[in-house]
This record gives sequence, structure tokens and C-alpha cells, in this order.
Amino acid sequence: MSATPERTDVLVVGAGVAGLACARDLAAAGRSVLVVEASDDVGGRMRSDRLDGFVVDRGFQVFNTSYPQVKRRLNLRDLRLRPFTPGVLTHTDHGRLRLTDPSRDARSLTDLLRGRLAAPRDLLALGTLSARDMLGPTVLLRRAEDRTTRTALASAGFSEEFVERFFRPFLSGIFLEDQLETSSRFFHMVWRSMLRGTLCLPADGIGAVPAALVTALPAGSVLLDTPVALLTDDGVQTAHGDRLAARAVVVATGKGPASALLPGLDVPAGRVVTTYYHVAPRPPLAEPTLLTDARLRFLNTCVLSEVAPTYAPAGHALIATSVLGEDNPQARKTVTSALEEVYETDTAGWDLLTARTVRDALPAMPPPQPLSRTSRVAPGRYVCGDHRATGSVQGALASGARAAREVLEDLTGRRHRRR
Ligand SMILES: Cc1cc2nc3c(=O)[nH]c(=O)nc-3n(C[C@H](O)[C@H](O)[C@H](O)COP(=O)(O)OP(=O)(O)OC[C@H]3O[C@@H](n4cnc5c(N)ncnc54)[C@H](O)[C@@H]3O)c2cc1C
Repeated sequence: MSATPERTDVLVVGAGVAGLACARDLAAAGRSVLVVEASDDVGGRMRSDRLDGFVVDRGFQVFNTSYPQVKRRLNLRDLRLRPFTPGVLTHTDHGRLRLTDPSRDARSLTDLLRGRLAAPRDLLALGTLSARDMLGPTVLLRRAEDRTTRTALASAGFSEEFVERFFRPFLSGIFLEDQLETSSRFFHMVWRSMLRGTLCLPADGIGAVPAALVTALPAGSVLLDTPVALLTDDGVQTAHGDRLAARAVVVATGKGPASALLPGLDVPAGRVVTTYYHVAPRPPLAEPTLLTDARLRFLNTCVLSEVAPTYAPAGHALIATSVLGEDNPQARKTVTSALEEVYETDTAGWDLLTARTVRDALPAMPPPQPLSRTSRVAPGRYVCGDHRATGSVQGALASGARAAREVLEDLTGRRHRRR
């Protein structure tokens, strides 16, 4: 069924992954749906550009295969996923140390057994935490008391030294904040998904994920280059002055525009991140691994072209390095000298391809953090997106699914099954 503005059941404002998931579930339930997107393509924060033959994601991010919504909605084979090596390399005063589940990568045993990365008490705490998070039912994680991740790690028995050397650098790149002030509930969900899944990138860039979601929609369901200016009594008005009518409107725009379209909406603060993309004549590290820095000069770095050679033309290496905050000359200087040190190489021959700053890259998630919030705002008005769940592709997709369920319940007066 192809949606026409005059006869649309539901308008979804925003074609990020939350809006696309919502539209897919509504269409699958037989509703006519139109997704109205401000920019020139779908994907929102999960877009990839082609720049001089390189694939540049709009902010470096990784794709986790074990997220339940990911498994439910996407054919992973179609995404041509390229895996990172399990675990992480951390640059410390003692050089680069590897931490991973030894059953997945035996190289970590060397650092673990020599006690270079973790004391026996940390190894014990790590084993207990990992077993519980990986094997326990999710309901226990959801219901556990919510604290900051720092507090939760301390009470799990980790030494301050191990937290600073491993958890803080590693989790800063996931939370997009470096104080470990993010909800422990979110931390446990992420830890579980890391242990159960594989971190990957699609060969064509992270934008392949929303591109795959669009294919599940009826043709003609997405209207691009159409910013919505305001919500009307019976639909929306676009910035071009057109009025589109619908029985229900779902705002899936990300938190900033959502609070403009829905005044009074409670939205969290946002995290700002900048990714620097450098081109080098050869890979400074010949493995697809995430590298973190115990001194926190950056969030993480990796040689993207080692993860997926499609990210760079032959004869070049593409390196992504993310930092908190806006792009600025001091940040560039700090990153360049840190990269020289952590990759143990001369970066004089490297060029900065581009810097991508994303404001509101992730919602802040301090405790207590509900893992999901209702989409209902007012009769016929709904909101979804990662800021209504958790800052992740899983959170965004789940929030889109919840919005679709609630819209359908209100349109039909019947309860709808959770997907
Ligand atoms: C740098 C970075 C790193 C990340 N790392 C990870 C990671 O490693 N793992 C992970 O799972 N997640 C990660 N994320 C988070 C993940 O990308 C987001 O949670 C997810 O993409 C959010 O999707 P969304 O649909 O909620 O919002 P968005 O992607 O923001 O989509 C909103 C859409 O609405 C459109 N829009 C806005 N205003 C209007 C308007 N007025 N009218 C019409 N359309 C409008 C926008 O153009 C956009 O397309 C990262 C994000 C960033 C930026």
C-alpha cells in the first residue's frame, strides 16, 4: 500500500532508525503511513557519506549483532558485516594492553596472566559480572537498582585502578561521557550485548542499516527534503507551507526538534562528539581493533580500513578517532600527538580527511534511567527515538516499535503484541 498524504493513517516525522522501525510496524499492521524527513536521505545519526572514495560515517559508531531489535528486523547477511576483533586494546603507561574474553581471543591471556591489566580481585569481579550479565535473564537487569556505573563497578569489587585503566576509557566511547555517571542499568545491558554479540561495521558504512530498514517499507512511504515546521490539529505543516493530514502523528526527530514540535516534552541533555577521519599511506595497526587511551585524550580510535577495506580506496588507510565536544584547534592537536603515541608511528604523512561533529549524538542517561518510556504525548500525538529509551540503535528501534504498538492500540482499541 502506497501512502498518499490525503489518506494517511499515520505520519511519522523523521526517518532515523526509530521512525523507520515505527513506520515498518504500522505498515505491517495494514496502516497507511508516510514518513516525512527533513534531510535528503534517511538514517539520521546513522548515515554514511562518500568522500574522495572513502566511506565516512556521520560520527564513528559500531554495530552490535546481539541487540534483540537488530536480530528481529535486519537480515545481517545483507549488511555484509565486517567484525572487529573481540575486546579492546588500551594504551597505558605500560604500552598497549589487550582485554577480551580469552575464549574468544587467546592473545589476551598474556596480559591477563601476567597481571599487567588486572589484579586477581579484578579478574574475579570481571568473571562474576560477565557471567551474571551474560547468562542472567534481562528482567533481572531491568529491575536491578539503578546507580551510576562508577558506583556499580566499585560495589562489584573492581579496584579503582582497573576501573580507571580499563572501564573508564572503554565505556567513555559508549556513553559519550567520561565520568562513568551513566546509568548502571544501561551499562549492564550494553555489557550483556557485547558478551553475546560481535561488534561490526557494514561494508558500505553504518548507513547500510537504515537503508536496509527502508526496504521493508512500501514504495513511496518516505518523503525526503520535507522539514516539518509544526503540528496542526489534524496532522502537520511543513516548512514549505504544505499541510499533511493524518489520524495520528509520531514525532521521531531526535530530542532537540522533538521538544520544538512538542512544547513541554521532557527531554534529556545531549552528548556532543567529534570524529576525526585521518588518511594514512599505510595502516598504523594491522588489525581491526578498537583502541582506547587510559589518559582519555580521545574516546577511541580504530583503523576503519582494517575493519572493512571498503572504507578506503586501495593504497590508503582510514583512521577514525572520536573525542568529546566540538571540533577545535586544541582538540586536533591533542588527537594528533596522542595518535602518534598510541599507534607508535610518525603521523607527519597523515592528512585530516574531515571532522564530523554531532551535537546530541546521544541522550544523557543518568540514573534512574527507565529503559523505555511511553510514546503517548496527547491524543493522536506520539514521540519516539533513542531519547525515549536508551542511546543506541537498540533503544531507537525499540522505541519506534513501542510507538507503533501504542498508535495501533489507540486506533483499534485493542492491545497489540510486543515485537
Ligand atoms: C557519534 C555517534 C556514535 C554512536 N555510537 C553508537 C554505537 O556505537 N552503538 C549504538 O547502538 N548506537 C550508537 N549511536 C546512537 C545511534 O546512532 C542513535 O541512537 C540512533 O541513530 C538514533 O536514532 P533516532 O531515530 O532516534 O534519531 P535520529 O537518527 O536523530 O533521527 C531523527 C531524524 O529526524 C529528522 N528530523 C529532525 N527534525 C525534523 C523535522 N522537523 N522534520 C522532519 N524530519 C526531521 C532528522 O533529519 C533525522 O533523520 C551513536 C550515535 C552517534 C551520533
